[in-house]
Amino acid sequence: MSKEVSLEKIVSLAKRRGFIFPGSEVYGGLSGTWDYGPLGVLLKQKLIDLWKDYFVYQRSDMLMVDSAILMNSKVWQASGHTETFTDPLVECQNCHNRFRADKIDLSTCPHCSKKNTFGVAKNFNLMFQTLIGPNSNEDQVLEIDKKALLNLINQQSGKVLKFKLNNFTVQANSNLVYLRPETAQGIFTNFKNIIDSIYPDLPFGLAQHGKAFRNEISPRDFVFRSREFEQLEIEYFIQANDWQKYFDQWINLIQDWYQLIGLKKESIHLLEVSGDDLAHYSKRTIDFEYDFPIGRQELSGLAYRTNFDLTNIANFSNKNVDYRDKKTNEVFIPHVIEPSFGIERMIMAVITEAYTEEIMEDQSTRVVLKLSKQLAPIKVVVSPLLKNNQLLVDKALDLFNSLKKALKFVLYDDNGNIGKRYRRADEIGTPYCVTVDFQSLEDQTVTVRDRDTTNQERVDINNLIAYLN
Ligand code: ATP
Repeated sequence: MSKEVSLEKIVSLAKRRGFIFPGSEVYGGLSGTWDYGPLGVLLKQKLIDLWKDYFVYQRSDMLMVDSAILMNSKVWQASGHTETFTDPLVECQNCHNRFRADKIDLSTCPHCSKKNTFGVAKNFNLMFQTLIGPNSNEDQVLEIDKKALLNLINQQSGKVLKFKLNNFTVQANSNLVYLRPETAQGIFTNFKNIIDSIYPDLPFGLAQHGKAFRNEISPRDFVFRSREFEQLEIEYFIQANDWQKYFDQWINLIQDWYQLIGLKKESIHLLEVSGDDLAHYSKRTIDFEYDFPIGRQELSGLAYRTNFDLTNIANFSNKNVDYRDKKTNEVFIPHVIEPSFGIERMIMAVITEAYTEEIMEDQSTRVVLKLSKQLAPIKVVVSPLLKNNQLLVDKALDLFNSLKKALKFVLYDDNGNIGKRYRRADEIGTPYCVTVDFQSLEDQTVTVRDRDTTNQERVDINNLIAYLN
């Protein structure tokens, strides 16, 4: 079942009210990139804070790391990303547009509608590459294998060269680095540091939040498939024998999390990934899917990755990544359960769930974002009933200043009439509107209007902060 709200309505609201804008828009945009405006920044930050609170700060078995985005390229060789982090790419021989082979019907080109124009799919690596340090200089490259490289450089100057040497693929450009396509590897590469510095009891988890980059073949559907996005990932280190127990625990935790951020239980679906779709390192993966306006799609993932990553690090780095059990002295490489979330898809789900249209008595449409109070970017809007009455304005500004200090996420709005102000506040999900009117000047009370019920109550200014909290 798809949500009734269309993607267009969400994209339009996001832009109109300053949540999310297309990236580099003044220059015609840059596909797959998005910029957050003032309200989007607040919503995103509140979601991240809530996530950290729920998955890290409220628990005693979780720690955070924050690794560099640029990492030694060996990280991606050891993890398998340089070889296998690919999507199947096809090109239409008629219009030369390129598509992800697993996402389209290959009998007809989705762009020019011509039939049977696709050849065999090629594997396209999704990692962005860049060069680190001053531009690659040939002297450095030549040291690796002068003769072979000279030949290759003469033939293919200007390219990053890969060649096979004794069955190893050698990257001739030593300056080549990748923008990380996931935050998870920055956790694994710090595992040894954490054991050496902190040595937590097992099981324990390491969490990381940050940017990830994927050169998606067809970025689309608003922020759902972006080329630059943010992940929140956890590696939960365990004894191999315990994996099923912890896997089940994480399923429950994640389901509770989605309820906490306001997603209905019926809108979340667990998909057991099997067969060819299961990554080679994973013994079990569940995709948490959500009923987006674009259909049922992956919101986040949960995988049992065994000790695949740590073992690869041990092999590629020749470093010891063992864990010594504090009670039994048993030495082993821990296994991991990996919950992996993307902020963009969570924001899209939260807005989809919250977006509501109500037909009012006067037949107008009220758009309301029924965001949970914890996530609403603005908590309270303060207004004077009339903009041109100095007594009302002074009192409203006084109140605004004191609420702003106490509650931070407070706006002052005196544009248009009070009805319009309410609608504007509803559209961005503001739970309360406080209005200073003539009675306020006499008895120190204000009206507080509730977003969801539209009911209004008179509240004593001295009790206002407690009421709003
Ligand atoms: P998909 O199958 O949709 O490409 P994936 O299985 O490759 O996703 P993972 O590698 O499991 O995704 O990444 C973990 C999470 O990171 C996803 O569940 C999603 O929330 C987020 N994510 C991944 N790719 C993107 C992207 N291009 N844009 C926005 N979020 C993304």
